[in-house]
Amino acid sequence: AIDFKWIRDNKDAVVVNIRNRNSNANLELVLELYEKMSNLQKEVERVRGERNLVANKMKGKLEPTERQKLIEEGKNLKEGLLALEEDLLKLTDDLQQEAQCIPNMTHPDVPIGGEDCSTIRKMYGSPHELSFPVKDHLQLGKDLDLIDFDAASEVSGSKFYYLKNEAVMLEMGLINWTLSEVMKRGFIPLITPEIVRSSIVEKCGFQPRGTNTQVYSIEGSDQCLIGTAEIPVGGIHMNSILAESLLPLKYVAFSHCFRTEAGAAGTATRGLYRVHQFSKVEMFVLCQPDESDFYLEELIKIEEDLFSSLGLHYKTLDMATGDLGAPAYRKYDIEAWMPGLARFGEISSASNCTDYQSRRLGIRYRPSELSSATPKKGKSSLAPPQFVHTLNATACAVPRMIVCLLENYQQEDGCIIIPEPLRPYMGGLELIAPK
Ligand code: AMP
Repeated sequence: AIDFKWIRDNKDAVVVNIRNRNSNANLELVLELYEKMSNLQKEVERVRGERNLVANKMKGKLEPTERQKLIEEGKNLKEGLLALEEDLLKLTDDLQQEAQCIPNMTHPDVPIGGEDCSTIRKMYGSPHELSFPVKDHLQLGKDLDLIDFDAASEVSGSKFYYLKNEAVMLEMGLINWTLSEVMKRGFIPLITPEIVRSSIVEKCGFQPRGTNTQVYSIEGSDQCLIGTAEIPVGGIHMNSILAESLLPLKYVAFSHCFRTEAGAAGTATRGLYRVHQFSKVEMFVLCQPDESDFYLEELIKIEEDLFSSLGLHYKTLDMATGDLGAPAYRKYDIEAWMPGLARFGEISSASNCTDYQSRRLGIRYRPSELSSATPKKGKSSLAPPQFVHTLNATACAVPRMIVCLLENYQQEDGCIIIPEPLRPYMGGLELIAPK
């Protein structure tokens, strides 16, 4: 249910938005296809009406010649209608495909421009004092027998890894600690399917096809591996009308994530930083439209609280228009200091997708009261359903968190100190020492 009428009536604003967001959406083509589809829809309705008229006439008493003439007429109309309906289906499909590229509109406060134009909202902490030669997580993983990239490369290919020994407990500890921290804040825990239909991936704003796709598709099926739990969580309530009293619905979901990482290269992609498969705890909120700005603030606050408790040095960015992706109306990324990389690296992302995903997935709610005057006599007193807003935010992307913890908490003697909040979730482990 993309609102093409709105797009047509607000064309100038949509053009500016497409330009600001550095999107390659073809608005002219979308509007042309929409116009064609609307006309064809009218034509289909007209022919359907004619055919019904003929069918009704046939119910009456008729001369045999007259009946024969109507039978012929009905047959021709039916054939014509079938052809028109087929054209309409094809046109609708083309329109949906083309419209996928049109990005969500943008919050008025979002900085306009490319990556460099994102602004810093908050800076927390300072780099850990490491007054000795610093190792990166690859070296630490090797020295402490925590990560094996070589075997994984043989078994699966590049950008895969085995976690070993205390690193396994670190992953499990991070997941369990994050889940329990976020559940404390009223979120419903979920473990999601990790294979979903391609149509759901598309409706969430990801491209399951094409040469540069980030999505792994399963050959011979219409299914994909998920790149994030946002997709199966978004799908839970598709094609439904929720009671207003259920909102906001807040989920915290654990899943593995699978990404082709097509086009990713450079030193920042080494080791665990950019891999094809990783564990992630993701928050997802469905709320009323006038509350999504508020919940974006709540989500970023939870992320910041989690990363502060782990003692990370980080900055929160208000992402510029060119870096929002199609579904987000506003996006805040957090980047943490990674001593091995000697720079900040992205560890989380929180987006308000407003009604971009809910329109495509068909997730609505029924307001409990009519917003306008008392309903007219005889009319239903139920308020019409409206699309919810959806938001998603990373609570813990495990591999980048492992990079941060190993690199920031390394000691001169080669040990890694485990931050206090994680210890109860790691069987009381305080230190990872060389074996
Ligand atoms: P995204 O869903 O793309 O916003 O990613 C959420 C978070 O997952 C990012 O902020 C990163 O911390 C992490 N992440 C994304 N892609 C990868 C990857 N290929 N390997 C490891 N971590 C990743």
